[in-house]
Amino acid sequence: MATKEFPLEPVAVPKVQTNHRRIQTMLPVPESLPLLRRLRESECRSMRGQPPIIWARGDGVHVHDPYGNMWLDFSSGVLVTACGHGHPDIVRAIQAAAGTGIYHAYNFPTEVRAELAAKISSLVPRPLKEVFLLTTGSEAVECCIKLARTHGQKLGGPRKTVLVTFDNAFHGRTMGAQLAGGSAALKSWIGPYECGFVQVPYPDGFRQKDESFEVFTRSLADKGVAPDQVCGVMSETYQGCNAKIMPPAYAQALRRWCDQHGALLIFDEIQAGFGRTGTWFGFQHTGVVPDLAAFGKGISGGMPLAAVVGRSEIMNQYGPGEMTSTHSANPICCAAALANIEVIQRENLVENAARLGPVLAEGVRKTQEFSHGRVGRVDAVGLVAAVQFTRPGTTEPDAALAWDVCKRIVESGVMLFSPVGVGGCCLKICPPLTIGEEALREGLEVIREVTAAMTAP
Ligand code: PMP
Repeated sequence: MATKEFPLEPVAVPKVQTNHRRIQTMLPVPESLPLLRRLRESECRSMRGQPPIIWARGDGVHVHDPYGNMWLDFSSGVLVTACGHGHPDIVRAIQAAAGTGIYHAYNFPTEVRAELAAKISSLVPRPLKEVFLLTTGSEAVECCIKLARTHGQKLGGPRKTVLVTFDNAFHGRTMGAQLAGGSAALKSWIGPYECGFVQVPYPDGFRQKDESFEVFTRSLADKGVAPDQVCGVMSETYQGCNAKIMPPAYAQALRRWCDQHGALLIFDEIQAGFGRTGTWFGFQHTGVVPDLAAFGKGISGGMPLAAVVGRSEIMNQYGPGEMTSTHSANPICCAAALANIEVIQRENLVENAARLGPVLAEGVRKTQEFSHGRVGRVDAVGLVAAVQFTRPGTTEPDAALAWDVCKRIVESGVMLFSPVGVGGCCLKICPPLTIGEEALREGLEVIREVTAAMTAP
């Protein structure tokens, strides 16, 4: 689903000046219009989805434009800058890596790749062990799909190639990742042949009230899929569109079902991994370890790096050179990721996300309370929350309201990316994991106030 394009007509907005926010101009800033127009002339429309604020400089939880305005960042880009913007250790690591003159090494061995792979492998619970480093989240998802289909065919022949995923899931925008996604609107371009992907309801407690595992087995049967056809089941550990962690009882039943039927359990941890939910990995909330996990976003704190981690016999299905990429384990990205993970450890950022989780949860609960019935659902875990705007008393998305509220929040000095999720109705709140309580409370209060004002009858 397309989000609305932000207009390029500057409007007067109230001036703001706090320790974390400074808005002193019209928005968009009149002086920024030539650059914004130049982008619109030279780029495709799909790149116009975000608020027209020029990101010029970052420090910690703050993003600055070139005109003296400053935002409190509740976006982390898109859940990427776990350690905030411009963390000195990460900047130093990138500079040092570039300074070696080796900013690309294909799959030739490098020291930094060895260190990063060992670090990631040491963090994940066994039996997850071997690591494969890639560039984007979608690429990691594609790799999981490939590994699962290869494994399935070894066990059950060509019949065992169905991958089960979930309604409203998001796994990325390449073809396999999009087939695995659970939003019909996003994959209309693919055409009628679904190539072995099937979706079942996600137990989100809102659009799918019945969170029992029977829904999974019943839905598969209704779709005519026999368990012995299934090579794998893949899910986000919390769905990006709702921030609801898969209920532990459901995840445990799913783990048993996968074991019983020779299907791989795959968790897409691209949003949830590396501390976002207040544990190192989102699946640690469920008491279940998957066979494969896909990581991206917060693993590197900014540079494009992703990873697949899995059980040995699954990860080692391909011979040397059979599963690689030109940019696997780029040395600068690896150096940034290593520094990022070390900062998460040294600054206790997983603990910070866990400590501030209740503050965020209470903040979005209050936003719902003051929304005059226009926020149908909020979910929060660690330092990620989802606020869904819906038509009163229903689960029907209200994208127009979500967009208007988002725009006003950004105009008030809190940076959000455009609404996402079902019908585009969901505001995601996901500040860097370095945020302090005072800044978090300040931003949440802005969101509550704007929501209350814009939903008032
Ligand atoms: N999986 C999930 C859960 C995601 O949130 C995303 C990105 N939003 C992806 C996969 C795709 O990652 P990328 O955009 O890096 O390809």
